[in-house]
Amino acid sequence: MKALSRHATAIRPSPTLSLNARLNERVRAGERVLNLCVGEPDFAMPEGGRTAALRALAAGVDRYTDVAGLPELRARIQRKLHEENGLDVGPDQIVVSAGAKHALYNAFFVLCEEGDEVIVPAPYWVTYPEQVRAVGATPVIVPTHADTGYKLTAARLEEAVTARTKAVVLNSPGNPTGATYTERELAELAAVVERYDLYVVEDLIYEHFFYEEGTAPSMTAFPALRERTVLVNGVSKSCAMTGWRVGYTVASPAISALVRRIQSQSTSNVAAVAQHAALGALDDVPWRRLAGYRERRDIAHARLTAIDGIACPLPTGAFYLFPEISRLLGGDHGGRPLATADDFCDRLLETTGVGLVPGTAFGAPGHVRITYATDPAVVAEGLERLGAFAREIR
Ligand code: PLP
Repeated sequence: MKALSRHATAIRPSPTLSLNARLNERVRAGERVLNLCVGEPDFAMPEGGRTAALRALAAGVDRYTDVAGLPELRARIQRKLHEENGLDVGPDQIVVSAGAKHALYNAFFVLCEEGDEVIVPAPYWVTYPEQVRAVGATPVIVPTHADTGYKLTAARLEEAVTARTKAVVLNSPGNPTGATYTERELAELAAVVERYDLYVVEDLIYEHFFYEEGTAPSMTAFPALRERTVLVNGVSKSCAMTGWRVGYTVASPAISALVRRIQSQSTSNVAAVAQHAALGALDDVPWRRLAGYRERRDIAHARLTAIDGIACPLPTGAFYLFPEISRLLGGDHGGRPLATADDFCDRLLETTGVGLVPGTAFGAPGHVRITYATDPAVVAEGLERLGAFAREIR
């Protein structure tokens, strides 16, 4: 038979989703697993979202909506952008898609083609390089390190730019490091972006998990960058609605028209009831619960860094810790060699039931990702077991 598509076969499956599936299998088999891999908050979705969904169902919202989303949802997002991000856009600049992941895919599809390069700072969220490949472009991974807070600097960006560079991906607050860019750092990056005529795909999905003063800075604060930035956001994280699949892009009218066009020929619209749920939820964002995440971060970070051999900067956003564990690699645990972060996570799961994601998934070997968005008692016990495991390494 003829070969299947190169684009499709080049893509790797999401390592976090498959790891989660493996952990759930163990749970079904009756094992006690402490899952510190999950990428979703543990609180309930806003009551306002649930009520709106039920009301919409009762009213019979059974039909297609506009491809770009319900006008009232886009108007609500428009208001959110004005109030929270100081960004004034027209309704034609917003397209509602099936989660931020789909919104990102649309963005890469519209911006890139064969031969284009997209700069992706590492550690990166697992999906960016794969989506760039999926649209036929080439991800150019630029490693960042703890000394710059795992952030891309203007100098590193400039070094990575070639004649083929089309766009750069920014994710602040970031998954997996929890790093956040300051306005000044973004201004420096923005100058390079403008100089080399690039686009920015800016993923703000964790914007409400921001532990510094004020709101999470965004590229769209710079008027010169607005035309060249595709902002991606959604309700998955801040409203704990990962299963509802509602995200959106905000971009120039020209880019948004193409996003609508591709969506009109792929998914049409996000499920109408899910859009109503998102609309209700946006009026009822659980700010109090989000604020509790700063304390969770502090507790989890203090426990983690008390473990000998583990180094981890204090993250300023999102809900992950991303420690370096290189000092714990190279030895063995109970006769099993621990050469890589993958070995480390496999052995940890096998002997303690604690599930972490190896840094290799994020382009950062020698690290592991730990979430603190789950039940604090589970996080505490997981870190306790991790500490005991680390002490047993010879
Ligand atoms: N962007 C980042 C950085 C993420 O970590 C995730 C989910 O883990 C997403 C986007 C996907 O969001 P959604 O569930 O809305 O597709």
